[in-house]
Amino acid sequence: MKKEIRTRFAPSPTGHLHIGNGRTALMNWLFARHSGGKFILRIEDTDRERSTETSEISILEDLKWLGLDWDEGPDRQGQYGPYRQSERMGIYREYIEKLNDAGKAYPCFCTPEELENRRLQMLAKGQSPKYDGRCRELDKTERERLMQAGIKSSIRFRVDQDEADFKDLIRGHLSFSKETLGDFVLLRPDNTPVYNFACVVDDHTMDITHIIRGDDHISNTPRQFLLYQAFGWTTPLFAHIPMILGKDRERLSKRHGATSVSQYRELGYLPEALVNFLSLLGWSSESGEEILSRKRLIDEFDFNRVSKAPSVFDVEKLKWMNGVYIRNLDVDTLTDLLDPFLKREDFSSKAIDKIKPIVALLQDKLENLSAIQEKIKIFTRDQVIFESVEAKTMVRSSGTRPIMKAFLHEMSPNQKWDTETFARIMKRVQDQTGVKGKQVWMPVRIALTGQMHGPDLSKVAEILGYEKCQRFIRNILNG
Ligand code: GLU
Repeated sequence: MKKEIRTRFAPSPTGHLHIGNGRTALMNWLFARHSGGKFILRIEDTDRERSTETSEISILEDLKWLGLDWDEGPDRQGQYGPYRQSERMGIYREYIEKLNDAGKAYPCFCTPEELENRRLQMLAKGQSPKYDGRCRELDKTERERLMQAGIKSSIRFRVDQDEADFKDLIRGHLSFSKETLGDFVLLRPDNTPVYNFACVVDDHTMDITHIIRGDDHISNTPRQFLLYQAFGWTTPLFAHIPMILGKDRERLSKRHGATSVSQYRELGYLPEALVNFLSLLGWSSESGEEILSRKRLIDEFDFNRVSKAPSVFDVEKLKWMNGVYIRNLDVDTLTDLLDPFLKREDFSSKAIDKIKPIVALLQDKLENLSAIQEKIKIFTRDQVIFESVEAKTMVRSSGTRPIMKAFLHEMSPNQKWDTETFARIMKRVQDQTGVKGKQVWMPVRIALTGQMHGPDLSKVAEILGYEKCQRFIRNILNG
């Protein structure tokens, strides 16, 4: 029987979910769902100083928001738990003992200062720094003497192989020489396990079959590989996904703008759009299509189509994609989604008269949900605010007075105030003034909205209503 595929996402709870980690989680999730396997969430919180509960909560929330549900995790116990490393200390101790007993690990009494000095010396000699193996050959009595003297020790792994090589599902065959490795630490003097060790023990004991992670971890993999060998365990398959760069081809960082999933959520990106966008960072569909439903992503995901080259985070593309998803929503759903963003501006969608026609009108102008906060202002304020000096000067120039006068003259409270009436009035204004096209439409648009461009003006006028339109045009003449 074929082994069930089990992937895992293993964030360290030291901040919000970074966009790159969101992509890593997504690839693990897609592969697990594609192959009918399991997706496991493990919290790597052995760094007690930097790990916080708040970060863990926010990472879980962001994953849920993205719709990346996990089958086992800290809040969904399965048979392989616990799923938080801080709760697995006993397990790590047990496996350290095994390595000790097999002579594959040893205590190291070198102090951080000594290690740092030796590192600097190696660098000065042009060597690549690694542990010089000083405590490797201490004999039993010497070790005991140091322990009795209360000198704290870490536990190091004894690297005896000359080479570590493994096959990566994306990068192909990779090999690392022992020269660059050195005996590495497994357990710190305070008894906390080091990432490489805890990760291997967990991945093995949780039966993980595929390790899909960012290629910033590629230098850790040979060490992890050696540990699998030392324990006599089958190595899982590795897939290191290429990093994400900004448009300037530098590593994606705060400098490039929003970098966490929660920031995009706050800005009003839709989870479906972000998932679609993230899936295309380093992967592409066979057909080359870009707008892909979650179902299609699951069906079509394949490591053969993951690129070896870094991908570029193009925020303009994300905006475009989000706009596509927003346009595909029905007005009721979009109105509900906009509500929290309107509330931030102190009004709820329920309190806005004609909210649905407004949403329908603005729908294709929204790149994200928070953009509603600015765009809706033309309908909610009581006075027109000019967006620029240019707009103000244009609408107040003497040439526009006959237009405004003719417009007012054509307005009558007996008319049904709708798009047709507005269009009829505009036609008559043109006939009467002899001014045509943009020369008429632009000043009226500015008079009604304060802006030189915007949504369909006859619809804007209908939503504004008779009274506001009359008042705003009058203000131009009186101003
Ligand atoms: N805790 C590690 C990280 O957040 C996990 C690395 C791995 O997936 O092995 O980078």
